[in-house]
Amino acid sequence: MVEAPDAGAEPDVLLISGGDVVTMNAQRDVLTGGAVAIAGDRIAAVGPTSALRAAHPGATEVDASGCIVTPGLINGHQHLTGDPLVRSCIPDLLAPGESIFSWSVPLHAEHTPDDDELSATLTAAQSALCGVTTLVEAGTVAHPDRVAAGMVAVGVRGTVGTWGWDVEGAPFAAPPDEVLDRQREVLAAHPAGGLVEGWVTLVGHDLASDELLVAAADLARSAGRGMTMHISPTSSDPESYLRRCGARPIVHFDRLGILGHHLLLAHGVWLDGAEVDLVLASETAIAYCPWAYLRLGQGVTVAGRHGELARRGGRLALGCDAGNAGDLPDVLRVAALAAGLARDMPVDPEGFGAHDAFEMATIRGAGAIGKDAEIGSLEPGKLADVVVFDCCASAWTPHGDVALQLVWGSDGRDVRDVFIGGRPVVSDGRCTTVDVAGLRTAAASAQRDLLGRAGIEVPHAWPQVPAG
Ligand SMILES: [Zn+2]
Repeated sequence: MVEAPDAGAEPDVLLISGGDVVTMNAQRDVLTGGAVAIAGDRIAAVGPTSALRAAHPGATEVDASGCIVTPGLINGHQHLTGDPLVRSCIPDLLAPGESIFSWSVPLHAEHTPDDDELSATLTAAQSALCGVTTLVEAGTVAHPDRVAAGMVAVGVRGTVGTWGWDVEGAPFAAPPDEVLDRQREVLAAHPAGGLVEGWVTLVGHDLASDELLVAAADLARSAGRGMTMHISPTSSDPESYLRRCGARPIVHFDRLGILGHHLLLAHGVWLDGAEVDLVLASETAIAYCPWAYLRLGQGVTVAGRHGELARRGGRLALGCDAGNAGDLPDVLRVAALAAGLARDMPVDPEGFGAHDAFEMATIRGAGAIGKDAEIGSLEPGKLADVVVFDCCASAWTPHGDVALQLVWGSDGRDVRDVFIGGRPVVSDGRCTTVDVAGLRTAAASAQRDLLGRAGIEVPHAWPQVPAG
């Protein structure tokens, strides 16, 4: 049993008892028949159930017998607005970029503050139901306070930003100074250490001036916050930077001095060898969203080097991206795909396994977003973000190796309970903090209104024939 070094006066203790505890500590210990003691928002102890019961006799117990107990899952790239209200509406057969400029941009332009909060709340709840306890918002939010309010209502941890780009004629675009002022406002309104923390968030791609890129990185570093933006999910960013700057994006970023530990790049699919070396040398992190690349036909199986980045010690988190690009906010589903691609692309079944993918979903993902001192493993003193998988579910019968079964053999549908900062957010497979059924009803109505305002009619793959 390991006790927190300084428990102090102990608040009410919650004991998640009797499960197999996948700690993701430095040794990757799995404590069979173990328990996690939670005091306030922190993990007080992890150890044998009998010992923790003896140490905390008045504790409230959550029986996790026969269950798997893991750290909360980390989603390093999730759009909380826009797509959630039009999930499965953007058709498959579109030319590259058309889904962004014919769909996402006009829909975002019509999003109301209420839409932002509703879609963020719904996505946060769906994420929690899949065992995701930390969300990095991807940078397309017009009303960050409303998005943060949705995340807080659900009780999900994460980061929030607001639209940051200085291209002409785009929604919420502005000159660099104005963009930076809005970023500073988000950092001030959502301080570090809160459940939802403000990050410097640019759209990225080739949609920011060098002046904005440099100033944004300076702001993130001086404020001690993370910065995130999109780059190179397809070949179009490298082509564009080569035309404009005579260098590929990561090389250009290196020359600008914006790479580093503060920076989480979403995607990084089309990197060449020199760019991979720069990402690793600068300790720049990457949010890897393989379902989005497959869904949108962006070429990860042709160009992706995330397996190499992982093997060479790169800072990688998994991401679920958007409601029409990856679709489900289920990090385990992404972990299985990430492991499969890392094994199949080099035709190497020995270099990367399910256990590696689960690291990316937990402690390694926490490291990629600069939070591994606080989350990502079940260890005394860390924030109590804990997931209980119901191993009575058919996918778990009979039990095998826990890493294999978590990644290959199940997904977020087997999540029974979720605690975030010690607070129960999901119990017995139901979200306890918000009315998910009510949110779904509201989303259906908001979708009709949003599509109407944007003047978009959803084309269907098959003819829609009235039955009567
Ligand atoms: Zn994105």
